[in-house]
Amino acid sequence: MSKQQLSIYNSLSGQKEVFVPINEGKVGMYVCGPTLYSEPHMGNMRTFINFDLIYRYLLVLGYNVKYVRNITDAGHITNSAGDEVDSIGKAARQEQMQSLEIVYKYNVIFQDLQRTYNMLPPSIEPTATGHIQEQIEIIEKIIENGFAYVVNGSVYFDVKAYSEKHQYGILSGRKIDELAEETRELNAQDEKRFFADFALWKKANPDDMQIWRSPWGDGNPGWHIECTAMSTKYLGNHFDIHGGGMDLKFPHHEDEIAQNCGSLGCSPAKYWMHANMLNVNGQKMSKSFGNYFLPMEIVNGSTELFEKPFSPNVIRFAMMQAQYRSTMDMTNDALKATEKGYLKLMEAMNLMEKLKTSDASSSNVTALVDSFYAAMNDDFNAPTLIANLFEAVRYINSVNDGKATITADDLTLLQREMNVFVFDVLGMVPVASSNNNQLKPVMDLVLDLRQEAREKKDWSTSDKIRDGLAAAGIVVKDTKDGTTWS
Ligand code: AMP
Ligand code: ZN
Repeated sequence: MSKQQLSIYNSLSGQKEVFVPINEGKVGMYVCGPTLYSEPHMGNMRTFINFDLIYRYLLVLGYNVKYVRNITDAGHITNSAGDEVDSIGKAARQEQMQSLEIVYKYNVIFQDLQRTYNMLPPSIEPTATGHIQEQIEIIEKIIENGFAYVVNGSVYFDVKAYSEKHQYGILSGRKIDELAEETRELNAQDEKRFFADFALWKKANPDDMQIWRSPWGDGNPGWHIECTAMSTKYLGNHFDIHGGGMDLKFPHHEDEIAQNCGSLGCSPAKYWMHANMLNVNGQKMSKSFGNYFLPMEIVNGSTELFEKPFSPNVIRFAMMQAQYRSTMDMTNDALKATEKGYLKLMEAMNLMEKLKTSDASSSNVTALVDSFYAAMNDDFNAPTLIANLFEAVRYINSVNDGKATITADDLTLLQREMNVFVFDVLGMVPVASSNNNQLKPVMDLVLDLRQEAREKKDWSTSDKIRDGLAAAGIVVKDTKDGTTWS
């Protein structure tokens, strides 16, 4: 159960390593946040939900965590085709708004989604546009150190000069000679001395929506420099964890490391963590592939991909059933099975509060609780945690059926730790039950209407009510003593 046992798969070493924070008791964690030129899709949310799980578990272990997740609201992004594009400017032109108006519009939605999916807010969500000065200062240092050059109002990172002193490719394993084959002709290729060089500052285009002054003339920052600026500003030159989606490993994170080493002389993070992709039929969910759905579309049932709506709790629980380093496909059948499991878990959580105790326990509760920690200590293995929680569910049900026993002390331990892991770690929201005072009058009314429909044999209305309640996380049960809900 001790913190020392936490091990993390470090993408930098390609191995699981025991987690030892740089400063005892404290963790600094930086995660690359969204580029808010459109509504985040379910794939984006998976990455942020995974890091929310990681953040939550670090808090449960008692660490004082500073969690920084940026918002990209400026800069040129390299898209999947290898082109450098100002996606925010493009969206702004399309929607006839200003760049920051676009970012604000989608940030409101993103913040709502965080609450819907019960994600804890990070300690700070700094923006790229709020840190232009810091980015300029880092670029100046890189130039001073001889790892960048200025061409026609733009600044490029000099990968060849850097490679003479440092190892470019340390994270991704890319060898610069091999990069030529996978890097397409980029914009402004002719300005670069070497194909693998990347922009730190881009000279303004006449149609740029946002422009800043710099020592090299008007322009805007390259994509990677904002994360170097914000991570070092809020967490220092060397911090514990840097995370993001797997697709950011190269070039984004590789280039971040080069910028940090090229300006400050050291690699930013001790542990690099990469969350795997949400796929649709084996292919990464992506705006550019058109195979995406929006987080609210599953909740309100407006996508044809799913037979019925699913509650955010069920969707979050489904996400937790794939370890963060594995890919996951979200299918109708998987969500239906998850919903059943989720409701079973929630019923057991309610039942656990009312169990009768005995003089002896027929199961080893301490070992059971240890297995929860062991699962999460093993690189945040939530699927194993869930399997172990279901061991506890079976035990709770057996005690309730009189087939097993539990002592009062063991029950107190089990209640405390099940609550910690189900609600604090997995981030499930406690469901209301029949004795919930606030919901009771509303539920009484809804169940009366359902009863009337049933008496009239209006099965479609009664099913609609039951399914609608299920989607909201409320299970209705008809027993011989009447209808109950939880
Ligand atoms: P973006 O807004 O494109 O910068 O992406 C924001 C975050 O979402 C990044 O950490 C990406 O790695 C992540 N991401 C993008 N697509 C997916 C996906 N299909 N599954 C999981 N994470 C994704
Ligand atoms: Zn980043």
